[in-house]
Amino acid sequence: MERTLVIIKPSAVHRQLIGEIISRFERKGLRLAALKMMQLSDEILKEHYAHLAEKPFYNRIKTSMQSAPVVVCCWEGLDCVRVVREMTGVTNGRLADTGTIRGDFSMSIQENIVHSSDSPENAVIELKRFFKTEEFFDYIRPVDSAIYASDEV
Ligand code: ADP
Repeated sequence: MERTLVIIKPSAVHRQLIGEIISRFERKGLRLAALKMMQLSDEILKEHYAHLAEKPFYNRIKTSMQSAPVVVCCWEGLDCVRVVREMTGVTNGRLADTGTIRGDFSMSIQENIVHSSDSPENAVIELKRFFKTEEFFDYIRPVDSAIYASDEV
């Protein structure tokens, strides 16, 4: 099964949307493999947003991402990276499709509610960045037989 990283950003924490966002992934049928709240350090943010470090708005993103703790989660399922990315919507909340998280809850390119990994390769790297091995949980959900056909898993 594939795994992906979701960060519920301060824009969602401030707006009390944590439960709403977790609920969307649960209702989709994804399995929660890890979850914690953390205050992002300068170091972890620099690493996570290294591709934006030279942008004029980097300091603004940093201030925003440190304005409250974030909730980091690992979701698991078939094609999980693509599925979660599509549920997230495009970067700019004003352009994101209605029905996506950003499309439903964001009016901003910066304050866009969640981060999700953009490829299976990056998901592996990002999960390692935010979680220790012992923070992942494997467990059987009785509901799995209603979520996948037997030949899918
Ligand atoms: P995504 O989060 O959709 O994968 P990026 O990796 O390009 O997008 O950017 C990371 C985050 O940086 C975005 O989610 C958003 O919060 C912020 N960001 C990206 N572009 C801009 C911009 N032009 N102005 C302000 N913030 C931005």
